[in-house]
Amino acid sequence: MGSNEACRGLQSAGRYMLDNDLAWGNAGNISARLSPDRYLITASGTRLGELKEDDFVECSFDGSQSGDRKPSKETPMHRAIYEQRPEMGAVLHASPFYTTLVACADIRLPADLFVEDMYYLEKVEHVDYFHPGTSQLGEAVGAKASQATILFLDNHGVLVYDTSIQEALMGLHTLELVCRMVISARSAGLDLRSLPASKVMDFLENSGYRPRRGWPK
Ligand SMILES: [Zn+2]
Repeated sequence: MGSNEACRGLQSAGRYMLDNDLAWGNAGNISARLSPDRYLITASGTRLGELKEDDFVECSFDGSQSGDRKPSKETPMHRAIYEQRPEMGAVLHASPFYTTLVACADIRLPADLFVEDMYYLEKVEHVDYFHPGTSQLGEAVGAKASQATILFLDNHGVLVYDTSIQEALMGLHTLELVCRMVISARSAGLDLRSLPASKVMDFLENSGYRPRRGWPK
C-alpha cells in the first residue's frame, strides 16, 4: 500500500472508531503496512477521530523513521505483529468500553453465536499486563501474534490485526459487539444459544464467507 492510501485509510478508520464507540479521548493507536518491512503509524499524542496528514510516522524494521514527529509510544507491539505475521496489513489498538471491561475480568468469549462472531473471534488470546510502550509488552505480543487475530492486553485494551484496515475494523467492531452482548446477557439473566461446534467448523471451512484463515499447528 502507498503511504497516501495508507494515510487516508487510517484517517477514515480513526473516524469510524470514534463514531462507533470503538475509541475515546486520545487513547489508541493504529497502523498499516506499506511494504514487507515498513509501516505507517499514528504519531504520539494524536487523536484518532481527527487525524491530519502529518499525524503519521513511517517506520522501518531497521529502526529508521521519516519526518520529525515521534511515533506512538506503543509502536513496539505494532512492529511485533508486522514482524511475526507477514500477511497482516493493519493493526488497531484501542480500549473500547465493553472490550476493556472483558480485558479487566475473567470472561471467556464465545465464538459460536453469529456469523461475524464465528469468523472474527475464531482465535482470541490474552497477553499479560505490561506497561504501555515497553519492550516487554512488545515481546509478549510477538510471542502470541501467530496464534490469533485478536489479542486482549489484560487490564489495558485490545490489539486487532488483519489483512487490511477494513478487515481489522470489522474484527474490532465485532469484538466490541460480542463483549457487549455477553455482558448484557449476564445483566439480563439471558442464556445465549450457541451453534453446535460442527456447524461452526462447517461455516469456517465451507460457507465461502471469507477465505479460511491458516493457523499454526
Ligand atoms: Zn494502550
